Amino acid sequence: MQNFVSRRSFVTLAGSAAAVAGLGLVGCSSGSDTAAGSDANGSAKSYIVATDTTFAPFEFTDDEGAFVGIDVDLLAAIANDQGFEYELNSLGFDAAVAALESNQADAVIAGMSITPEREEKYDFSDPYYDSYVCAAVAEDSDVEDLEGLRGQTVACKTATQSAAWAESIADEYELDITYFDSSDMMYQDVLTGNSVACFEDYPVMAYGVAQGNGLRIVAENSDDFATPYGFAVMKGTNAELIEMFNKGLANIKESGEYDEIVAKYLEA
Ligand code: GLN
Repeated sequence: MQNFVSRRSFVTLAGSAAAVAGLGLVGCSSGSDTAAGSDANGSAKSYIVATDTTFAPFEFTDDEGAFVGIDVDLLAAIANDQGFEYELNSLGFDAAVAALESNQADAVIAGMSITPEREEKYDFSDPYYDSYVCAAVAEDSDVEDLEGLRGQTVACKTATQSAAWAESIADEYELDITYFDSSDMMYQDVLTGNSVACFEDYPVMAYGVAQGNGLRIVAENSDDFATPYGFAVMKGTNAELIEMFNKGLANIKESGEYDEIVAKYLEA
C-alpha cells in the first residue's frame, strides 16, 4: 500500500513538535486483526509512529510529493506481514523522540541509532541497518579533514549521534556548534557558508552526495559512533509492537523483501 503525505502538510509540520497531537499524516491499514494488535474491545489498535522529516534515503518526500524511504517501506512491509495498523507522523528527529516521550506517539522509526544511553530509556527492535557518522563540507571548500575545521562554526542536528560526535571533539578542534532541527536546514547552512561543515550519519550523507547535494565528506568515525538503527518504543511499553516488528523484520529478510526495499533506494 502506498503512503502519501502532501507537500503542504509536510512543510507545515516540519520541526513542529506541537503538531504531533491528533494529526495522522500517513495512514496505513493492513489486513486482519491480531490478538497482539487488538485493544480490549477487540478492535484493531492503530499505533502512532513518529518519524523524521528529511532523512533520505530513510524518510523523505519524493519529487511527486509522496513520503517515501527505507524506513517508510520497511514499516509498511512489516505491518503488512504482521497485520497491525499505524499512522506515520513526519515530525523531525528531535520532535519524534519528544512525541514518544510525551506519549503522543507509540514508537519512532527515524534512522534512530541504538546506543547504550538510549537503551536505558527506550526498548529497541532488533537492529535493521548499520550506520556511523561523518562530517561534510561544501564541494568547493578547501577543507580536507577535521583539522581544517579548527576554530570554525559547524552545523549539527539536535540530539543526534553525529551531533554527539561533534560535541565530543568540539574542545579539541575549538568548534562552535550551531544546531538545526532538520538535515536539509543543516546542509543549507553549509551551502550558504554560515557553517564550514555539518555532521551527519554516513549513509544519509553518502546518499545525499550521490544525489548532488553540493557537499563532500571529509571525515568519518566508524569506531566510537558505529551504531545500527532500530525501531523504538518507551521502555516497558508496547512490547507486543516490538515483538511484531522483530518477527516481521525477520520474515521480510527471509523473503527477500527487505533487500528489495533497500535496493530500491540505494541502487536506483
Ligand atoms: N541516527 C542518528 C541518531 O539516532 C540520526 C537520526 C536522524 O537524524 N533521523 O541520532
